Amino acid sequence: MKILVAVKRVIDHNVKVRVKADGSGVELANVKMAMNPFDEIAVEEAVRLKEAGKATEVVAVSIGEASAQDTLRSAMAIGADRAILIQRPADLVLEPLDIARLLQQVVNQEQPDLILLGKQAIDDDCNQTGQMLSALLGYAQATFASQVVVEGARLQVTREIDGGLETLSMGLPAIVTTDLRLNEPRYATLPNIMKAKKKQLDIIDVATLNFSPLGQVKTLSITEPKKRSGQCTMLNDAIALVTELQAKEVI
Ligand code: AMP
Repeated sequence: MKILVAVKRVIDHNVKVRVKADGSGVELANVKMAMNPFDEIAVEEAVRLKEAGKATEVVAVSIGEASAQDTLRSAMAIGADRAILIQRPADLVLEPLDIARLLQQVVNQEQPDLILLGKQAIDDDCNQTGQMLSALLGYAQATFASQVVVEGARLQVTREIDGGLETLSMGLPAIVTTDLRLNEPRYATLPNIMKAKKKQLDIIDVATLNFSPLGQVKTLSITEPKKRSGQCTMLNDAIALVTELQAKEVI
C-alpha cells in the first residue's frame, strides 16, 4: 500500500500571530514556521503503518513556496520515504479547492492507495481540502480520524463525532483526515534529520502544470480580536450576579 501525505507549512502554533498594519493578512516576516500539527499526525500515522508492514511507501507532498522544502524534510525526518513540492510564487493565492485540484494531479501521477491529510490547517482553519479532494477523485473519505486500522484491502476508521465515536469500513483508495487523538507524533532524531537531507525531494514549478487558480474567494480584511477592557466588577453574591447579567441581557 502506497500512502500520500499532504503537509502544509504554517506559522508555528506557539507563535502569537500579528495582523499586518494594513489588514491585508498576517505578518509572516521573521516568524517561526512549522508543519501544520494535524499533518504531523498524518505523517506519523503513515510511518507507523509502514513500520507495521501495512504500507510500502510514504510520500509527502506540499504546495508552497521554496521554504516548504524544510517542512518536507521534517516529514522525511519522521520517516516519509520521499517528497514532492509543488512550488508556487509568494504572490499566488490558492484557496482550498485550488489545493485539492493540485493534489488531484499528484494523486493521478502517484496513484496512492491511501491519502492522509490533516483535518484542518491551523492558519486558515478551513477544514475543506480533504473533503474537496475526495469529491474530485470520487474516493471514499473518513474525516476526523482517531483510529485507522488496515484490514486486507479495506480500512476501518474510527471518527470523532459529537458525543461519541463512529466506526466506518471503506475500500481503497481512500482519503482520511486526522484528528488530534489519532497518535502522538515522535520527535525526529538527529540521525533521521541527517538521513532526511539525502532523501529524494522533487520540485515541480506550478507554472509547468495544467492549472490556473479559481480566484473565487477574495479576502477583504483581517482584523485582530477586540482587546478586552480588563474591567472587573466585584459582586457580593449570586443574586447580584443574576441581576447584573439580566441587566446586560446576557440571560
Ligand atoms: P484546510 O482545508 O486548509 O484546513 O487544510 C486541510 C488539510 O489539507 C491540511 O491539514 C493539509 O493536510 C492539507 N493542505 C492544505 N493546504 C495544503 C498545502 N498548501 N500543501 C499541502 N497540503 C495542504
